[in-house]
Amino acid sequence: MAADLTGRLIDATVAAIRADAERLTALDQAIGDGDHGVNMKRGFEAIAAARDEFAGLPLPQALQKAGMALVMKVGGASGPLYGSLLMSMGKAAAEDAGLAGPLADGIAAIKKRGRSDVGQKTMLDVLVPALEALEAGEAEELAPRELLQRVRAAAEDGLAATAPMQATAGRASYLGTRSVGHLDPGAASSALLIGAVCDVLAEEL
Ligand code: ADP
Ligand code: MG
Repeated sequence: MAADLTGRLIDATVAAIRADAERLTALDQAIGDGDHGVNMKRGFEAIAAARDEFAGLPLPQALQKAGMALVMKVGGASGPLYGSLLMSMGKAAAEDAGLAGPLADGIAAIKKRGRSDVGQKTMLDVLVPALEALEAGEAEELAPRELLQRVRAAAEDGLAATAPMQATAGRASYLGTRSVGHLDPGAASSALLIGAVCDVLAEEL
């Protein structure tokens, strides 16, 4: 593992959230309460503030600490959900050096906490296709660069596919059919984070 992978993952995800917070908020203005970018920025600024502490930890512990920071700092629904994702990924990563296993555990934690699943116009509509692409690519023994490309494409396709969906989970579900025709903000932040993580992992190759 190249030096300071944890630090570079933190830097890349924090930079992505800072750069796109306004876009995430605009998406949430259309079908939510207009705070998703603010929520994500608050959470990732807390992670940025602890950057050196977290970067000095083994990745499993860093994931768990970052997850706890999101749970504590983010007011909206997305904080506990992303927090559960990272905490479960960290727990799994202590025993599984791969990515697919920990990501699967993290997604299971979101489903449990959110009482939600794919097809409800949420972050799961990006995270689950990304995991499926990762698992399929690994089974096909794709070259790492192509594997990362597939994961990124699956996340982007998953995000686009949220537009025609009607939300049946989270705040956007209150809108009924009026949620149709808009991208889901949490799906957008998931695609953004997956892109940032893929960039860092591609640099490792
Ligand atoms: P809030 O909805 O409390 O204002 P945010 O705006 O930060 O919180 O986050 C909204 C996003 O959280 C949604 O776009 C959706 O992707 C995700 N979300 C909300 N509820 C759920 C749920 N039950 N399961 C999965 N994701 C959810
Ligand atoms: Mg919101």
